[in-house]
Amino acid sequence: MAARERLFGQGPVVLAFDVGGTDVKRGWVDAEGSLHELQTVPTPVAGGAEAIIELAAETLQQVPEARGFSMVVPGIVDSASGIAHSSVNLGYRDVPFRQLLQTRLQLPVFFGHDVATAGYAEHVFGAAKGVDSSAVITVGTGIAAALIIAGEPVTSRGWAGELGHVQIADGPACGCGALGCLETIASAAAIARRYSELSGNTVPGAREVLERMQQGDPQAAEVWESALDALSQGIQITAGLLGVERVVIGGGLAQAGDNLIVPLQEKVRQRTTVTKLPEIILASLGAKAGIIGSLLRAREITKQ
Ligand SMILES: [Zn+2]
Repeated sequence: MAARERLFGQGPVVLAFDVGGTDVKRGWVDAEGSLHELQTVPTPVAGGAEAIIELAAETLQQVPEARGFSMVVPGIVDSASGIAHSSVNLGYRDVPFRQLLQTRLQLPVFFGHDVATAGYAEHVFGAAKGVDSSAVITVGTGIAAALIIAGEPVTSRGWAGELGHVQIADGPACGCGALGCLETIASAAAIARRYSELSGNTVPGAREVLERMQQGDPQAAEVWESALDALSQGIQITAGLLGVERVVIGGGLAQAGDNLIVPLQEKVRQRTTVTKLPEIILASLGAKAGIIGSLLRAREITKQ
């Protein structure tokens, strides 16, 4: 554990949040570089931006020696300007979070995107370490990619990485208003929903679909297979367009391990002729990637 605990190395004490649709992961790093996790609390969704800023101020009282703060959220987020343009689940619209947090906390603040930041953590400490160009694809309720090209995160002011809303089929309908977005077929939520619709047996998640497939359920196999086909298409598009050397798969679906990665590698190989055939591996930081990345960013914006 010692290596993991001192992950960050020596530097300023910083505090960070990873804000999700249901809960807020909180942590801080001490001067020696050890990570300390604080209790995860429910996201104060109803209170909007003000409530999350107040939560940051309250949490800072627990770590008064912190010299920098970082917060990452889902949605369309511009880390360059520190503005959350649109976080549908959280109800944020064009909120200048970095500025508001700096004023409230009187500290340097990083504000960014959760998946992009988790991907950055995988690049620095995890499964995407050691390669110049990578895509960290998070497959959970939705699908999004964090891109590192020539060693630099590519965010395009928050618009890059929306792989989940790349259209790859004629249906089903997506929450975004389009038809056949990748995440309507290949997200963990879509796998559960599509199996439930096809079989008439409601399952809570993709894990149950995988289990049923392993027990010989042909409908589960059909849904799983089509999800992996769609995902392999998304990976081939990504690798063909950007030439990434490595694709790292994270998010809830990554818990399927080799049941996901091995057939996915084969499907991408079959699709790939002249475009880049990327290495495809599982993420290594798991659910902590977001908070680790957020802390990393807090360290970076904080002067010693
Ligand atoms: Zn969509």
